[in-house]
Amino acid sequence: MSAERIDGKAFAADLRERVGAIAADFENTAGRKAGLAVVLVGDDPASTVYVRSKGKATVAANMASFEHRLPADTSDDSLLALVEQLNNDPAVDGILVQLPLPAHLDEQTIISAISPDKDVDGFHVINAGRLSVGQSGFVPCTPLGCIMLLTDRLGDLSGLEAVVIGRSNIVGKPMAQLLLDANATVTIAHSRTKDLPAVVRRADIVVAAVGRAHMVKKDWLKDGATVIDVGINRLPPAEGEEKGRLVGDVDYQDVADTAGAITPVPGGVGPMTIAVLLRNTLVAAHRNAAIDLAEGAI
Ligand code: NAP
Repeated sequence: MSAERIDGKAFAADLRERVGAIAADFENTAGRKAGLAVVLVGDDPASTVYVRSKGKATVAANMASFEHRLPADTSDDSLLALVEQLNNDPAVDGILVQLPLPAHLDEQTIISAISPDKDVDGFHVINAGRLSVGQSGFVPCTPLGCIMLLTDRLGDLSGLEAVVIGRSNIVGKPMAQLLLDANATVTIAHSRTKDLPAVVRRADIVVAAVGRAHMVKKDWLKDGATVIDVGINRLPPAEGEEKGRLVGDVDYQDVADTAGAITPVPGGVGPMTIAVLLRNTLVAAHRNAAIDLAEGAI
């Protein structure tokens, strides 16, 4: 049997539409649009593309987008001054500093300077702590998107075995925490895990967030496992191609007969990240304006 394709692109489009409708209501009630400020330092081509698509998606969802582009040689002090200005700007509900920052800037210092109540990326240590102890805060967009796709497909995750491959602060760890909160039995695997295929074979749910093309193969999976592929890897260009193809951490073709369902790359987790960023910004706007947002509305 062929695995069901989990269509993150369609799910994300639906989420953006729901966010857009609630954002329009917010504007009517609050008398202003919900606002997202994105800060880009330097001109890294991939980051420039991300920032442009975030801006477009924000406007399409009836929210205000504030873009701040700073030169690559911006100092810590100037960036901190901009963050402080955005923290104090009542038109700004969410602040995102596009990572990675140029090497001379200290990412932790910059992220720590963002007000936790505007930290819609969920990277601030206060929000990591809130997630860890089960308080409401902001959860990083990619893992939150993954848990939305999982609960949409599987419903109740209670008692399921989940293996998260990768333990980064932005994907692996918050992913594991969200699965734990959903009452799954969670294992976090990483580069030192012994016999990774055997660990992954226990899982009803596999989340791969490693950054190694086609690492997870068919014989790593239990029959019918649900697979969420977070990885984005560019293959070397094949003959006649200008750029290599984008692929995930899971060998999609190879696992197609074993997995029960799987997210494709591209078109799976990727589109969820921006949609969840908009969702987090709208949640921030409601909190900042003290306007109720019905539980589970988005
Ligand atoms: P990261 O910070 O580099 O973390 C990678 C993790 O994978 C680490 O915990 C590392 O283990 C583990 N790892 C590396 N080699 C391994 C191996 N051979 N076996 C088992 N584990 C191994 O990466 P990240 O930021 O979490 O991102 C992971 C992937 O997701 C990347 O491809 C990235 O592009 C993609 N991503 C996608 C989105 C999206 O929107 N779809 C968002 C964010 C990231 P150690 O801790 O032991 O080193």
